[in-house]
Amino acid sequence: MTVSSGETLALWNRLLDRVRTHVPFYRERLPSSIATLEEVAELPFTTKEDFRDTYPFGLVAVPLAEVVRVHMSSGTTGRPVVTAYTRGDLERWAECIERTLRMGGVGSDDVIQNAYGYGLFTGGFGLHLGAERIGCLVVPTSSGVTQRQVMLLRDLGATVLACTPSYALVLAETVAREGIQGELRLRCGFFGAEPWTDGMRRQIERGLGLEAFDIYGLTELGGPGVAAECGQHQGLHVFEDHFYAEVVDPESGRPLTSGEEGELVLTSLRREASPVVRYRTRDRTALIDDPCPCGSPFRRMLRLRGRTDDMLVVRGENLFPSQVEEVLLQVQGLTGNYQLVVDRGAGQLDRLEVRVEAAPGCDPAALGPQAETRVRETLGLGVRVTVLPPGSLPRSEGKARRVVDLREL
Ligand SMILES: [Zn+2]
Repeated sequence: MTVSSGETLALWNRLLDRVRTHVPFYRERLPSSIATLEEVAELPFTTKEDFRDTYPFGLVAVPLAEVVRVHMSSGTTGRPVVTAYTRGDLERWAECIERTLRMGGVGSDDVIQNAYGYGLFTGGFGLHLGAERIGCLVVPTSSGVTQRQVMLLRDLGATVLACTPSYALVLAETVAREGIQGELRLRCGFFGAEPWTDGMRRQIERGLGLEAFDIYGLTELGGPGVAAECGQHQGLHVFEDHFYAEVVDPESGRPLTSGEEGELVLTSLRREASPVVRYRTRDRTALIDDPCPCGSPFRRMLRLRGRTDDMLVVRGENLFPSQVEEVLLQVQGLTGNYQLVVDRGAGQLDRLEVRVEAAPGCDPAALGPQAETRVRETLGLGVRVTVLPPGSLPRSEGKARRVVDLREL
């Protein structure tokens, strides 16, 4: 299974034909065909605003009678982003999730507890489809009710866990508190839907006794199943037979080359109901052309640094929460439960406070100054680090809220 440029070009031209025939938004702005893949870089982008402006079905490329499912993401303001699926789209989605789970060697003997939210969010149903396709025993707990999650992990003998990384950490804490780690059979876990670091990976792996895999997808492209880590854990393979990936300079939109960090732009090559051309994901990463030792034909993208939306500008410096997370987790005794609070007094400079929990049994007072020094030396930022006792910060069942911005900008 390799991806030849000839095949990809043919998929592109089929896609252009389909969207121009069925979607007025695309008909007005796209050519009827391209002669080479180099021409892709000249096509216009699709943005989140385009989804909002065409809400709910303006970008759908099939009659609604052929649509069998919709999912959506709410976002914080305005109209939701809607994505639709034909029966064929659901099959292809299941294939991509199967491929994701196979990265961890998941097979029909596995018991997978799926703690991604079921409902409008793509995570729950997406993982569910792929796991059923493999023939796993699926335990569809959805997110939340942590005590019951942990009880079921133990009682049903789950070997695989799927949820957001921040929720995996919540589960790990509960497992530790109840002292039942030795009774779990977890072997691997699939965590995505928010950026996370290798420090967080180690905490999750230690806490739950599993191998953690990073997975990637987004509502606009149909949810999880766009890219996934292999056992090398050196970047996520993009499923390039389904998705065309580019990284561009976020300012100029100019394409970047292998290894250069910028904004990920994705095109769905095979989706029928909600095809998307050159979607600006706002996710920061780089593509790597070097072959992976695992032998996959698909290029890799680096683990996400963050979303351009989440990037904080503090005293003129760009900062991603994940950069702070990385530093905090190098301090023995601190955890991945943290929050960044940015504030600005009248006419004053921005103040960044990091609130982070200590691990049980560690002395919070001793850890603060140590973390402040580490952040200053690594990121060049003067911050106040407040170390809190375990359990002080709110817990999330889905995506964690990492930034509290109190500035009036
Ligand atoms: Zn690989």
